[in-house]
Amino acid sequence: MFIAFEGGEGSGKTTQSRLLAIWLRDQGFDVVQTREPGSTKVGMRLRAILLDAVHQGLSARSEALLYAADRAEHVEKVIRPALYRGSMVISDRYVDSSLAYQGAGRSLDPADMARINTWATGGLVPDLTVLIDTPPSVGLTRLGGAADRIESEPLEFHERVRREFRSLAAASPDRYLVIDGTLAQDQISLLIHDRVREVLPD
Ligand code: C5P
Ligand code: MG
Repeated sequence: MFIAFEGGEGSGKTTQSRLLAIWLRDQGFDVVQTREPGSTKVGMRLRAILLDAVHQGLSARSEALLYAADRAEHVEKVIRPALYRGSMVISDRYVDSSLAYQGAGRSLDPADMARINTWATGGLVPDLTVLIDTPPSVGLTRLGGAADRIESEPLEFHERVRREFRSLAAASPDRYLVIDGTLAQDQISLLIHDRVREVLPD
């Protein structure tokens, strides 16, 4: 089973994916908790390039390809082997982040973004995607000024990203859980547990 967490800056994806991993391990499941970008050796170097403010002028297409390269490594070296072993995989970000940030955020063609990512992942789609939907004004404030290259984009960029996440979820409601990211942390966890319980193997 493959569960992805998506959402904008400061939405609490990292916290919630960690809490879900703990909850599943407590029930005896073997869980691999991972994130993008940067969960492989090459991926760590790509993450450093992608987030460093010195690369402020990186072209949108290069950015899209570097994220796709990170994801290809991630799928081949971490996610697929874990799924093959029968582990549960929880990823903090996946393909939707590229559709939202590089597609909608950087105004790259959505069909190109989908094609590149389907190729990079060999078509691997999560069983469930948890979208923690948070207004950028709230999320960015939570970060408290720790801005990487993307976090320092204008609010309008982050609004486009949020709209894209929401429309991806709306297009495949069976495969998404959309949660109001302004709810309390433990309330969010409970909503996630309710949904994940429905998809757990017996
Ligand atoms: O989730 P995390 O904060 O670790 O992501 C690192 C940064 O990479 C974030 O600022 C996020 O906006 C950015 N990112 C991106 N495009 C992606 C994935 C992440 O711009 N496809
Ligand atoms: Mg960040």
